[in-house]
Amino acid sequence: MESIYNKTFNELVDYFINIGEKKFKAEQVFDWLYIKRVKSFDDMTNIKKEIIEKLKEDFYINNINLDKVERDIEVNKYLFTLRDGEHIESVLMRHDYGTSICISSQVGCNMGCRFCESGRLKKVRNLKASEMIEQILKVEEDIETRITHVVIMGIGEPFDNFDNFKKFVEIINYQKGINIGARHITVSTCGIVPKIREFSEFPYQVNLAISLHAPNNEIRDKIMPINKAYPLEVLIPEIKRYIKTTNRRVTFEYIMLSGINDSLECANELCDLVKGMNCYINLIPYNETNNLGYKRSKKDTISKFYDIIKKRNISVTIRREFGSNISAACGQLRSKKEDL
Ligand code: SAH
Repeated sequence: MESIYNKTFNELVDYFINIGEKKFKAEQVFDWLYIKRVKSFDDMTNIKKEIIEKLKEDFYINNINLDKVERDIEVNKYLFTLRDGEHIESVLMRHDYGTSICISSQVGCNMGCRFCESGRLKKVRNLKASEMIEQILKVEEDIETRITHVVIMGIGEPFDNFDNFKKFVEIINYQKGINIGARHITVSTCGIVPKIREFSEFPYQVNLAISLHAPNNEIRDKIMPINKAYPLEVLIPEIKRYIKTTNRRVTFEYIMLSGINDSLECANELCDLVKGMNCYINLIPYNETNNLGYKRSKKDTISKFYDIIKKRNISVTIRREFGSNISAACGQLRSKKEDL
């Protein structure tokens, strides 16, 4: 038994061929699941009884449960319970260009970035593609609107769950399904180099963001353990290779941590590091969390840092802040049971 949302369209076609049925059944089922959004096989009224019974033997539909929604003006935070009792969170953001959802890719995370609240809960398990998809379906049902953009920047490291991530993209991108354009999907990684290589061969034009957060190994080693495995002299050439192979622009995320990585020397070093790359830098005002001891850089420091990068003719933005009132901001998602 598995969730039917784990099946790509082609896998469902194979499934029907294997049970001796016509492949257009896959189209009908996709239509019921992703266009009409039924919650039960019994509601698939144009499919004959025997097939419905067979589907019920092999799959379930309802998988994750929405427990709680916290609402702010531009942001909603959703808490879900999974079939095995684990919890995850998603965040919905309203923009003038549409609505985006930030989804979780794992229960917990093993990357251990020192500044990130989500990473304090060690990885329990990967999410299935179905559990990522259902975050979208449940949130769309709640807001009664279609989501236009998806970022995989919630709890977890998506490149540590690469196969499910790829499947997730294939399913939500499928035209006669949820139909979210690949260019409206962004995946963020802390820098797992072999997966960046594989991602450059992934045939969907999904945007890549790299959590860089430091301009040299000395600082990056201190705040991101992954840098020990893939230091900058390995990571940066791999990203350059990715840009060359795919002809796509990469985003560098850079959290502004007071006294850690926000000096003017750091700004210059950062520019030297990314010079000539097809990229842009997204400066992220750090969201302080209670227990981790890091402080957000002062407004003035952030704008000076920004000016230096701008003067060097590198594209740069300061990330708008969302959701700190309801602890829905980056690095604040935790999915702890006490939240329930
Ligand atoms: N593991 C992936 C996906 C998570 S993305 C990655 O590391 O990219 C979450 C983003 O929010 C990352 O850029 C992360 O570094 C950033 N982040 C984590 N804690 C934060 C905090 N307290 N304030 C602002 N950004 C934070």
